[in-house]
Amino acid sequence: MKRVIIIGGGVAGMQTALRLAAQGVEPVIVEKEAELGGKLRGWYVLFPSFTPAAEVLTDLRRRVHERNIEVLLNAEVKGFTAGGVLLADGRMLPCDSVVVASGFTLFDAAIKEEYGYGIYDNVLTTVDLERMFNEGRVAKADGSRPKRIAFLHCVGSRDEKVCQQHCSRVCCITGVKQAMEMKRLFPDADVFNFYMDIRMFGPGYEEMYREAQQKYNIHFVRGRISEASPTIDGRVQIKAEDTLTGRPLRMSVDMLVLIVGMRANDDNAAFAAGAGLRQSASGFLAPRDLFLGNVRSGVEGIFYAGTVTAPKNIGESINEGIAAADAAAEYLGA
Ligand SMILES: Cc1cc2nc3c(=O)[nH]c(=O)nc-3n(C[C@H](O)[C@H](O)[C@H](O)COP(=O)(O)OP(=O)(O)OC[C@H]3O[C@@H](n4cnc5c(N)ncnc54)[C@H](O)[C@@H]3O)c2cc1C
Ligand code: SF4
Repeated sequence: MKRVIIIGGGVAGMQTALRLAAQGVEPVIVEKEAELGGKLRGWYVLFPSFTPAAEVLTDLRRRVHERNIEVLLNAEVKGFTAGGVLLADGRMLPCDSVVVASGFTLFDAAIKEEYGYGIYDNVLTTVDLERMFNEGRVAKADGSRPKRIAFLHCVGSRDEKVCQQHCSRVCCITGVKQAMEMKRLFPDADVFNFYMDIRMFGPGYEEMYREAQQKYNIHFVRGRISEASPTIDGRVQIKAEDTLTGRPLRMSVDMLVLIVGMRANDDNAAFAAGAGLRQSASGFLAPRDLFLGNVRSGVEGIFYAGTVTAPKNIGESINEGIAAADAAAEYLGA
């Protein structure tokens, strides 16, 4: 039986494995973490339907388990060709084809020093907020209820200063979803989303954005926060410009949530150099072409699934798992 190694056990990697197994090909998932699931392990409820992330994860994991798919955990891939994968511990795993589903890296908000992440209390990221939702403990650092909350879009995306020119696509809708969740928890709080542009590309997203304004009374301000600083009473003062009215704006908030973007994995450079792959300007692995070959790498026997090639939502990543498995099966003559 032909053997395909899937690098990464996030949603894209798990779906790739399930589809390959259904086609009589032997998939092996190689995952560097101790569990399958990728970033979804950190999310609470998902846009646009508020479905618990755990529900999607449990379903995929259960099916991987039921199909007896081989999974190597705590196994980091250092390099590969279509014929084999090299692990960090020096083991070489032979195979007939490889699907790269190693996903993305979250932008480190501390790099944008002007917002004080990791320095001031009550400056957090969307990822921190997902963790708080999961723990059932959303509060200011001193345990009190926030009365005014600001979200800042495009942190570490569309920003040449930090070499991240691309739009991360899913963060506008994440900011809308989290703003709504905050209003549900704290109905009396004022919630502001500071944005450069609002990008609602998916089904149901625009409707959610409207609901956020009309039903939840969330304020969307077109403008960028230039800096944040702490106040003596433990709040965060933000300076911004409302670019629609042209007026400068200064406001104290109880929580500032930085909506961090998706960036390319650092591994991609070594992967590309080792296997003869191409990277796009933003560092993601570049598909053979964007129309007829977006799960193909351009190198025989190497395929891509999910966010390793660009920011995507879960549905898109899962669909690419199916497409990549089909392309690999076709290549192997399965
Ligand atoms: C804050 C935030 C909230 C989001 N919320 C939603 C939402 O509500 N709804 C939605 O549709 N989308 C959401 N998304 C997008 C969603 O997270 C992605 O679409 C999804 O995680 C992509 O899955 P993936 O399998 O491509 O990558 P990942 O989830 O990144 O999984 C990749 C896997 O590969 C592993 N890996 C990486 N490198 C190696 C290596 N060298 N060797 C072995 N294993 C490796 C990783 O450990 C990881 O398990 C959100 C994104 C963000 C940033
Ligand atoms: S999706 Fe929205 S917040 Fe994210 S980078 Fe694009 S414009 Fe900015």
